[in-house]
Amino acid sequence: MAPDFDVAIIGGGPAGSTTASYLARAGMSVVVFESETFPRPHVGESLVPATTPVLVEIGAIDKIDEAGFPKKYGASWSSSESRSIPTMGYQGLSHDWSAEVQFVERNQPGVDRDYTYHVDRGRFDAILLRHAQEQGATVFNGARVLDVDFDDRDAVRLTVRFGPHSTRFSARMVVDASGRQTMLGRKLKVKVNDPVFDQYAVHTWFDGLDRESLSPSTAMADHIFVHFLPIKDTWVWQIPITDTITSVGVVTQKQRFADAAADRDAFFWEFVSSRPELREALTKAERIRPFKAEGDYSYSMKQICGDRFVMIGDAARFVDPIFSSGVSVALNSARIASQDIIAAGKAGEYGKERFGTYEDKLRRAVKYWYEFISIYYRLNVLFTAFVQDPRYRIDVLKMLQGDVYDGEEPKALAAMREVVTAVENDPDHLWHPYLGTLRAPTSAPSF
Ligand SMILES: Cc1cc2nc3c(=O)[nH]c(=O)nc-3n(C[C@H](O)[C@H](O)[C@H](O)COP(=O)(O)OP(=O)(O)OC[C@H]3O[C@@H](n4cnc5c(N)ncnc54)[C@H](O)[C@@H]3O)c2cc1C
Repeated sequence: MAPDFDVAIIGGGPAGSTTASYLARAGMSVVVFESETFPRPHVGESLVPATTPVLVEIGAIDKIDEAGFPKKYGASWSSSESRSIPTMGYQGLSHDWSAEVQFVERNQPGVDRDYTYHVDRGRFDAILLRHAQEQGATVFNGARVLDVDFDDRDAVRLTVRFGPHSTRFSARMVVDASGRQTMLGRKLKVKVNDPVFDQYAVHTWFDGLDRESLSPSTAMADHIFVHFLPIKDTWVWQIPITDTITSVGVVTQKQRFADAAADRDAFFWEFVSSRPELREALTKAERIRPFKAEGDYSYSMKQICGDRFVMIGDAARFVDPIFSSGVSVALNSARIASQDIIAAGKAGEYGKERFGTYEDKLRRAVKYWYEFISIYYRLNVLFTAFVQDPRYRIDVLKMLQGDVYDGEEPKALAAMREVVTAVENDPDHLWHPYLGTLRAPTSAPSF
């Protein structure tokens, strides 16, 4: 008997819904099982422009444009140390601790605009999932996939729970888009915790935060802000959600949270208080959501595809939110994997070798992200220096736009690697005291 569907997708977040749209538009029969009932809240609210071409390709861009999400024209980094640390130089680089970039500074292939969006993920994810349905995908909300069985060579069998009942479905292959729940990674025992990063975040929404008071100019007030705290490896995000609502989160090492021995509320305020102007602005605003914590999110997979399965988005890998790369990786992994899945469908074969192009391309792109993140944590003064240096600014901006899928290593990475090594090897170097405590291996771990 023929399987119920060509492709079954576990999870209706951005990775799952985007894959469903691509496959349904190509004429495949697709089902999405989403355990929650949308809309549901989700962390990960600031996009990068590499999401735009994907949204255009699946035909969803008009719906996103019409949703009225705040436009994001760039990113800013702020530090209290800008006033007290004198300019330092290295190989002709001079820098400040604060920096900002705007997407308009670099033409990004395939992107027709100089902005992207900050999004309320409840609404954004719901729009994309409904869009997938409109493209022809079958979508179940409140449907938790409990198990995936690969024993039958002709069909993958899924056990799905709807309320108190379980039902079995079959498909020619399965796409794991279950996010950080990493359903297949755990089942197949291929999940590997990152050897270096073990990050932790506590976040909430505020109404009435005066974003202009925290910005160097009115024009930049709706940028994403990364506020460095004077605590190693620790920073705060500030992301506009509406005209008046702002998402704010503290990111640090999990160990620091454990050492603080405080609840989420006390931890948040204690860390934010290390930047008095930030604390003051926040205390004048009203917190409108409970504090939420995110942890255990730095991992990779030994394998991201195999016979009759592919993992995409966070189900394949996640490291750290510092460059707002997560949703763009979700959408672009969906895009690249869909090309292989559509070809597999045409060939009528769903063996591992069918997904090789996806694995290669994603591994390379994520390796660049990983190294960029590692360098950032190792020496973030270097990062702000490179953003301000005309020789490297555009290349760093390419990364910040999420434009990492063309296979070429971003040029700034080689130069950054060289500087980090020089600073590490010279205890007298002016930047040596600014080295972070997290030291990633020179080559990123593979999947
Ligand atoms: C602290 C923090 C801050 C972040 N900030 C940003 C940011 O500013 N910008 C950005 O781009 N990214 C950010 N991210 C990353 C971003 O949240 C993720 O990369 C993105 O949500 C991944 O999308 P996804 O579709 O892979 O997974 P998800 O969005 O997590 O979707 C997975 C879906 O699968 C469903 N599911 C799980 N298990 C099952 C099951 N067994 N059966 C059925 N359904 C299931 C879940 O309910 C969920 O809806 C951040 C992450 C963290 C941890």
